[in-house]
Amino acid sequence: MALTSLRTRIVLWYLAVLSLTFVVFGTVLYHYVNQNLQDDINDLLSSKASGIRDSINAFWEAEKADAVRAGVPPAGLTKIHNLNFNRIVQRWLLEKIDDPVLLNIDVRILDADGALIASSRKIPSAGDVPLREPVSSLGPAGRLTDMSAETVPGRSVKLRAFSLLALEDGRPAYAIQVISPLTSLSATLNHLKLLLFLLFPALMVASGLVGVFLAKITLNPVDRMINTIRGITAENLKARIGLPKTAAEDEIRRLAETFNGMLDRLERSFSSQRQFVEDLSHELRTPLSVLKGEIEVALMKSRSPEEYEEILRSGLEEVDRMATLSENLLTAARYDSNTMTLDKSSVDVGQLVGEIGADLTVSAEQKSIGLGITAPEGIIVRADRSRLKQLFLNLLDNALKYTPPGGTVTATVGRDAGGAKITIGDTGPGISDRDLPHIFDRFYRAERKRGPAGFGLGLTIAKAIAEAHGGRIEVSTRVGKGTAFTVHLPSSH
Ligand code: ADP
Repeated sequence: MALTSLRTRIVLWYLAVLSLTFVVFGTVLYHYVNQNLQDDINDLLSSKASGIRDSINAFWEAEKADAVRAGVPPAGLTKIHNLNFNRIVQRWLLEKIDDPVLLNIDVRILDADGALIASSRKIPSAGDVPLREPVSSLGPAGRLTDMSAETVPGRSVKLRAFSLLALEDGRPAYAIQVISPLTSLSATLNHLKLLLFLLFPALMVASGLVGVFLAKITLNPVDRMINTIRGITAENLKARIGLPKTAAEDEIRRLAETFNGMLDRLERSFSSQRQFVEDLSHELRTPLSVLKGEIEVALMKSRSPEEYEEILRSGLEEVDRMATLSENLLTAARYDSNTMTLDKSSVDVGQLVGEIGADLTVSAEQKSIGLGITAPEGIIVRADRSRLKQLFLNLLDNALKYTPPGGTVTATVGRDAGGAKITIGDTGPGISDRDLPHIFDRFYRAERKRGPAGFGLGLTIAKAIAEAHGGRIEVSTRVGKGTAFTVHLPSSH
């Protein structure tokens, strides 16, 4: 799999996006779990500390009540620097030390100056860690501190302490410190980290394989397409890309259809070019052989000037035909290469169509076709007169050529959105649906074998001239009834 292939790039992109997603997901998850565990332990420590404070106070109050009952004046019974209070605290701790509520938690009670009154000493060495800040700075809301202690020689453990100040009449009385090891939190986080680190490569490998597989099934049709296209040459334009069996209009199917459409057009254009070359040689061969024959006959013996004139006149007809053909070819080629030049002037379209109609009257009569021209003068456009003449002549020529004797050909000139509209209608055979999309194509001729001679250039040229003037040609046709070509020309372009 080359690094530049689409397949490799898709898989690499897929893996890059996936790994980024995984890294973001892993980081968010890790921070979320960490935060939750931290919050849990903080909440636990703070609730334990305030629970201990309430319990000690209750213990003290009970002892105090006993003492008052025994006659001790209550005013002297303070918690601040009172040895009795210290003893009560030590007793409280001894009683409570094994309470499951305090499992895994070290408790230290300090007096108002920070001196240790009692310590549960559950976590080895934890009790030795001094309170870092003065008791008076703690406040009744409490404070969290992280520290580490050597529980086993050479192995230090991270601890979190929560220190809370207990007040008496608004004055610092004593402080409670609850300490918990962070081992289970670190262990959970380490497990999570390990899991994520192990999962990452496993996920990448699995996703890579899935990616390769997906890219393969997605791009297989493209490979097949490439193979088919490789086999296509100018001589073998018949090959088509097999469409995927699914009916889904996916990109691959559209690509195949587009390519097949292009092959259709290429094949048509190649075969019409080939046809054109055949036609052209045929068209040229006839007048050339007639011309040759006439010249040979003329040269066989000496003739009278009248005979020579007759032969030359006949030869001139053939030369004219060849000149028209080359002129048409030149016009089509110029339009194709966008080099058609227009010599514009104000042209009275009605007058022009009237003139052309008059020129064609004789040939229409010869074919027994009724020619009806409705061309009011005064509809002016800016155009190249000789090109417009060629346009109308081509359309009228076709109408006369394809309409059988007894039919009618009409030309009607009218105004159209400031320009001119010229409709040339006939009662000829019409154009079939199969031919209609192609009649303006270069060299396209329908019913070529039976139809009258032509080069398939007439409509191409007509359309090219109309478009060069900023206009257009529309066709409406009914098979067996007739055809109407409508030319729309803007007044100026
Ligand atoms: P051609 O030299 O064959 O007339 P055109 O480009 O002028 O070439 O016309 C292309 C094809 O369009 C013709 O071969 C013919 O089949 C069809 N066509 C053109 N005009 C008409 C018409 N008025 N009636 C019927 N068919 C027409």
